[in-house]
Amino acid sequence: MFNSLISSIKRWHSKPKANEGSDGDSPSGSGRKSRPSGKPSRKNPRPPKTSRVVVSRSDHCLSRRDVSRAALTVMKRLQEAGFEAYIVGGGVRDLLLGGHPKDFDVATDATPEQAKELFRGARIVGRRFRILHARIGREVIEVTTFRGHHSDGEAHEAQQSEHGMLLRDNVYGDLESDAVRRDFTVNALYYTTNGFEIHDYTGGIRDIENRQIRMIGDPETRYKEDPVRMLRAVRFAAKLDFDIEPVTAAPLKELAPLLRNIAPARMFDEVLKLLMSGQGERTFELLREHELWPHLFPDNARHLDAPEALALTRQALRNTDDRIRNDQRVTPAFLYAALLWPAVNSEQQFLAEKGIPPVPALAQAAQKITSNQLTHTAIPKRFSMPMREIWDMQSRLSRRGGERAFRLMEMPRFRAAYDFLLLREDSGEIPAGLGQWWTEFQQADEEQRQQMIRDLPRNGPRGGKGRSRRNRGGRSRNRSKQPNNGSERP
Ligand code: ATP
Ligand code: MG
Repeated sequence: MFNSLISSIKRWHSKPKANEGSDGDSPSGSGRKSRPSGKPSRKNPRPPKTSRVVVSRSDHCLSRRDVSRAALTVMKRLQEAGFEAYIVGGGVRDLLLGGHPKDFDVATDATPEQAKELFRGARIVGRRFRILHARIGREVIEVTTFRGHHSDGEAHEAQQSEHGMLLRDNVYGDLESDAVRRDFTVNALYYTTNGFEIHDYTGGIRDIENRQIRMIGDPETRYKEDPVRMLRAVRFAAKLDFDIEPVTAAPLKELAPLLRNIAPARMFDEVLKLLMSGQGERTFELLREHELWPHLFPDNARHLDAPEALALTRQALRNTDDRIRNDQRVTPAFLYAALLWPAVNSEQQFLAEKGIPPVPALAQAAQKITSNQLTHTAIPKRFSMPMREIWDMQSRLSRRGGERAFRLMEMPRFRAAYDFLLLREDSGEIPAGLGQWWTEFQQADEEQRQQMIRDLPRNGPRGGKGRSRRNRGGRSRNRSKQPNNGSERP
């Protein structure tokens, strides 16, 4: 479908801009526009070279019917007020690839203030980029004003840090300048219902055809402006199953440490998009390949030479991907618990070897590893608390005698802790056995449950057949009193 589209592309150079290329569909509300007061910046000293491609309605597969009603309403209202309005970014990209966009963003030449007038209850948000949130029914559409090039006179509007990072970018411009300020060519395609054309200034259509993620402009400069673009390159490559074009991929390894300059809260949001969008495992492999992973989860990265740690990480991500595919609930608490566990586990053993009892050793290890992670990515309390509970419950799951098993099953974090136990068994960190016992216990009726408890060996019952590699030969003060499924530590 898309290949036929490419062959019939019409190509212009960007000189004449007004009213060209429409295939005759009724443009709505033209001519009533007053220019935005937020100065379009035409005085850029070095305008990037672009060539304009307009794909007319008959030559592409995108239809108004694919666009959400809310996004159509926003475009229509802007156009009726005399402004330009386009769907841009993931909405256009994903539709051209036959996918389902998760949302639609609108780009316009109206300033946020001008656009706000048109939508009741709309809010201007953001400091780095001021954008409008227009609420239509239950949907919120992000409306962004065309970004412009920065010239000296506008320097106060576009501020950069000492590392070249853009701290603010609120210089306004036109469609062309907006296109070159976006990250990747495939994200800079614009669709308008005023003529039903797709506008491409950066070669995005060609890159969609070649299945490539290509940075607009000089990759190194663009990553320095915003290091999160490094993560976005990987995210889109994994999500779309595209390659990262070699020049775009080249600076990643060297610039990866710049991720340190990103606020942990923003990093947490990016981590969720990377790992909890359905392609977590593939994304993880790509992040490792481009040496970005150690800057996201350093404590996980330094344990990946251990086969169990690598298996546990992959398995946790694969389970998350499967659950998302099956519309099951996923929580960052579980994923973070898994990613940090190899480090917590090893730190706990280290402390235990120094003679610290298991419970305080786990608490100290958890505290240390969590605090270190917080300097890289935030973990909101609502996730860090259950994460710690999942860890705490691991040793308790092996102590099942008397009423304990019944009480454990009533605990709010039981299910997650049980899933986590299975994950550890699957990865080979601990021997299989205890997980199966819990599976059967949950499926059993009351009578059978009582019997299962009675059948537990009185003295040092083992949840599994063997001992974990870590416990082999290790000393254990508790071993005579407690079952050893490998989850309790000496
Ligand atoms: P999806 O929503 O499917 O994750 P998207 O491409 O829509 O993908 P968003 O994060 O919603 O991504 O951003 C919308 C658009 O804004 C992008 O397509 C891109 O054009 C632009 N954009 C977003 N973040 C950046 C950035 N850090 N640098 C430059 N442009 C960006
Ligand atoms: Mg989007």
